[in-house]
Amino acid sequence: MEVIGLLGGMSWESTATYYNRINQQIRAKCGGLASAKILLHSFNFEDVVALQKRGDWDGAAKLLSNAARALEWSGAGIILICTNTMHKVADDVARRITVPLLHIGDVTGAALAKAGKKKPLLLATAYTMEQNFLKSRYAENFGIEAMIPDKTGRQCVHDTIFGELCQGIVCDQSRTRFVDIAQKAKQQGADSIILGCTEIGLLVSEKDLPLPVFDTTTLHADAAADWALGRAATRAA
Ligand code: GLU
Repeated sequence: MEVIGLLGGMSWESTATYYNRINQQIRAKCGGLASAKILLHSFNFEDVVALQKRGDWDGAAKLLSNAARALEWSGAGIILICTNTMHKVADDVARRITVPLLHIGDVTGAALAKAGKKKPLLLATAYTMEQNFLKSRYAENFGIEAMIPDKTGRQCVHDTIFGELCQGIVCDQSRTRFVDIAQKAKQQGADSIILGCTEIGLLVSEKDLPLPVFDTTTLHADAAADWALGRAATRAA
């Protein structure tokens, strides 16, 4: 079994989901006492958020790359950045390591394409919704054009991620707001919903929402488990 290297702590609330999910997948596929070989570098999220707020993406790229290299030196055979937002620097990280980086955008795009979805609503941080680093990946690699909520909706999703979910707060009112945003998108022609932030699955799931859901956290974690077992469905960059 290959060793999986996780860049986590962004936030640790979702890294815990990755850790559980990867191990559940390995147990389901291998049985018995089998568990995943994982190396985790968990950042202090305050440091990462400070770089995001300053727009210091070079600094962020350096921080993540150094940690990825350390995981590689320690034996990781593949690297995952356990957040959508920090995939803004994924190409920099991939350039500075020699093992593959399992890109969250490719895993998500492949799942949408396989299900025949063409117009997903992307729920994510403002960085991910308003900038192009993930949307262009879906478009260029899979021909998928993601929609985003209007300005008020984007603000609501972004504030819920940082003000609540990344701090372990899950609140019914926010769930209702997410459902309203999804309803509106459905009326505007969305055919699916990307939970494009690794904490959103802590708040909503397919049973709450009016469209099929693609949760980037579980998709990414499952792809890592498949990779570790030599059953990779998604090409790693
Ligand atoms: N985990 C979140 C994501 O998937 C947001 C935290 C971050 O800014 O990295 O985008």
